[in-house]
Amino acid sequence: MSGLLENKTALVFGVANERSIAWGIAKAFSEHGANVGISYAGEALAKRAIPLGESIGSTFIESCDVSSDEEIAAVADKAKAHFGEIDYLVHAIAFAKRDELSGAYFSTSRDGFQMAMDISVYSLTALVQAYQPMIREGGSIMTMSYYGAEKVVPSYNVMGVAKAALEASVRYLARDMGKQGVRVNAISAGPIRTLAASGVSGFRDNYKRFVDVAPIAKNITTEDVAGAAVFLASDLSSSITGEVLYVDGGFNIIGIAEEN
Ligand code: NAD
Repeated sequence: MSGLLENKTALVFGVANERSIAWGIAKAFSEHGANVGISYAGEALAKRAIPLGESIGSTFIESCDVSSDEEIAAVADKAKAHFGEIDYLVHAIAFAKRDELSGAYFSTSRDGFQMAMDISVYSLTALVQAYQPMIREGGSIMTMSYYGAEKVVPSYNVMGVAKAALEASVRYLARDMGKQGVRVNAISAGPIRTLAASGVSGFRDNYKRFVDVAPIAKNITTEDVAGAAVFLASDLSSSITGEVLYVDGGFNIIGIAEEN
């Protein structure tokens, strides 16, 4: 592999297991020469996340529940002590209650709405706030979005609204962070079989039907997303910020799908 990210340090949030997009990105960053720290959501996930981190020689593997300002601050302090400065921050985190991810969007509860927005949207802002003092000039921040931000995807419901807010956050954060020479972008990935995706009612059907619509008629993998993440981290994308980069085989450009 090329050393596109040689001598760079990355922190990747959202590793739940070997299927996680965060894990695909952490592995690819490491293959491209970066020193990668990883974070996972609470001790229940430690037994999966720690061996994964160790397998890429990670020396920083920390639990951080992003719904807690105290945990975010504590882990940022540890990262400061461990790395001093970092170059890349990857946010691959989302959560909505399972019963919000089926049926009518208007059934969304206040509590469910707030939880989805807090964990899937505000957490990006909270992480940027906490890590901004230690991100080097030329650095890159990225988050993960989905087409449901832009168009209606059945059952995606409150997560679609959350992803729209996440993409808007990316633009505001890109403006803020541009002042210190740091870029902020989103990757909008096509459907991938992960833990988070399995919570969306009808995901299997969407996953199967995806290849009938996308011009590149194959399902998206975490490696596909990780390749785009390496690009968005590297200097190859040094003038790209505030963007949503689709990694979806062109699914989003199709207006009306043809019959096969
Ligand atoms: P995943 O389940 O592997 O990752 C989601 C992560 O969010 C998990 O690591 C989970 O522990 C973490 N998380 C949830 N609540 C948290 C909290 N309170 N604190 C810290 N972490 C918390 O699934 P994934 O598909 O890899 O999801 C990663 C990102 O990619 C999400 O933003 C998701 O919406 C997005 N995405 C996924 C797909 C897909 O089809 N899988 C498509 C487009 C975008």
